[in-house]
Amino acid sequence: MWHKLGSGAEPNTPIEDRLQLANIQADRNLVNRLGPESIHHSKLRSQRRLQSGKLCCRVLPQRYIDELRAAVGADGLITGESQLQTYECDGLTNFRVLPGAVVLPRNAAEVQAVVRICARHRIPFVSRGAGTGLSGGALPAAGGVVISLARMNRILDVDIANRFVVVEPGVINSHVTQRVAADGYFYAPDPSSQSVCTIGGNVAENSGGAHCLKYGFTVTHTLALEVVLPSGELVQLGSPTLDAPGYDLAGVFVGSEGTLGVATKITLRIVKRPEVVQTLLAAFDSPQAAGQTVSDIIAAGMLPSALEIMDALAIEAAEAAVHAHYPVCGGLLLVELDGPASDVQVLMREALAICRNNGAREIRVAQSDQERALVWKGRKAAFAAMGRISPNYIVQDGVIPRTALPRVLSEIDRMASAVNLRVANVFHAGDGNLHPLVLYDRAIEGQEETALDLSYRILHLCVDSGGSITGEHGVGKEKQEALGYMFSEPDLETMQLVRCAFDPENISNPDKIFPRPRLCAEIPGPYTPHPLEAAGIAEIF
Ligand SMILES: Cc1cc2nc3c(=O)[nH]c(=O)nc-3n(C[C@H](O)[C@H](O)[C@H](O)COP(=O)(O)OP(=O)(O)OC[C@H]3O[C@@H](n4cnc5c(N)ncnc54)[C@H](O)[C@@H]3O)c2cc1C
Repeated sequence: MWHKLGSGAEPNTPIEDRLQLANIQADRNLVNRLGPESIHHSKLRSQRRLQSGKLCCRVLPQRYIDELRAAVGADGLITGESQLQTYECDGLTNFRVLPGAVVLPRNAAEVQAVVRICARHRIPFVSRGAGTGLSGGALPAAGGVVISLARMNRILDVDIANRFVVVEPGVINSHVTQRVAADGYFYAPDPSSQSVCTIGGNVAENSGGAHCLKYGFTVTHTLALEVVLPSGELVQLGSPTLDAPGYDLAGVFVGSEGTLGVATKITLRIVKRPEVVQTLLAAFDSPQAAGQTVSDIIAAGMLPSALEIMDALAIEAAEAAVHAHYPVCGGLLLVELDGPASDVQVLMREALAICRNNGAREIRVAQSDQERALVWKGRKAAFAAMGRISPNYIVQDGVIPRTALPRVLSEIDRMASAVNLRVANVFHAGDGNLHPLVLYDRAIEGQEETALDLSYRILHLCVDSGGSITGEHGVGKEKQEALGYMFSEPDLETMQLVRCAFDPENISNPDKIFPRPRLCAEIPGPYTPHPLEAAGIAEIF
């Protein structure tokens, strides 16, 4: 029994037991030094201390700041409070945390140096691209380090023959297409924020966009990654050649929301521009009718490059901002078809017939590239345009099976009316990826809480309908609780095993994604009392 062993183990005690005993002895010494109240009386914290020690510090000590300065230079370090405020949130502005420092490395070696400092002192760090994330993914850890990749913004290699480009993480999404357009290529994932968001952020969120229905999300286009692990080690994941043997670790990293390390170099697939692109606008009386049309188009075996829906409120907001000349209607469907001219001609006839069968009262086909660009400008401006029709709004992001679109849209209407709020809908209908925008006025007492509650109930509705709590914006800080609604404890524990394999110390974007703090040392299953509890040194309450 450990408490009979005094200050050390018997010489013939097995090594595992001796390590355990050494840890317990360290705990006893700590208790002797600081008193019993120094023990956090919970199972989780006592296990954390045994296995991995405590995370550093709500205020970053000056000596750590000096180390960071030595790593990135004085011009790569921000510590002034007013400057730090720029980094205190991302696109989800109702969560704000001031970091201890922001570093702006210029290359992978500097990222490594910074991460090694963080690992040595157990300082939490959060990677940041352009800060356009909508789920609080780039929200700093209090007193931690934000690693901004903004200065790592070079396109390093363009290999048209092998159809890939190699970029640094701070490259803006639309710059990739601009770089390869003259060769007849494009980079397919096109988030509406593509003129400002970065490839690093896209990789971390597995971002989508209107054309991901046909071409696939960021994960489909990420061939290889160079990553600084939370230990500071530099590793290569994936390969520009197809079908590399071994586990798909690049696939694991994509969508991991900054919790598995920092991407410092990304190899992206580029796609040949199609011969013809045609865009159709169909006006329906309701978004439900537009939703049914989407279901029918997919059921007919067609795969348009985009299928988007906007409801009356979204049209009103987009028109006010961009003047895209959309028809005034209850539900606007945007269908884009691309491919060889002969195929597009046949598919367009089919799409037109399906729209008419579902009661479209006006159908237009864009006649020029300028008209097409204006249609998309309105669609992509829709989120930001909500400010034109409401003082405040929450952007939600859920997924449902396409066939459930009409029913779920009606249910969202009903739920919103019941609490006297308006919900605008603008979404990637082909993927069943809803973006309900819950409109409210913070100045009206209690309305923000009602809006938040409604937006979470919409997510539950998505899960109950067989869908998901996020299609592209990630879980981040915002949807941690909702993740617990979607997955059972064993599922969450399994995800945690993956996280811990990359980041056993839990310093890379900690306190994100998972519904409650989880530690790599946590052992699922029936509770076994910690020896400190058994000895009466610590207790649980
Ligand atoms: C108006 C508007 C429209 C939007 N439309 C879409 C849309 O259509 N589709 C869509 O998917 N999203 C959309 N978004 C959300 C957002 O733009 C995307 O999530 C985008 O990928 C975030 O990129 P970012 O560079 O701003 O990343 P940030 O917000 O800075 O970070 C996002 C996450 O990535 C992590 N991260 C950043 N860089 C790295 C790196 N190098 N290594 C590891 N982790 C990293 C961060 O820690 C954080 O968790 C929209 C946002 C806005 C404001």
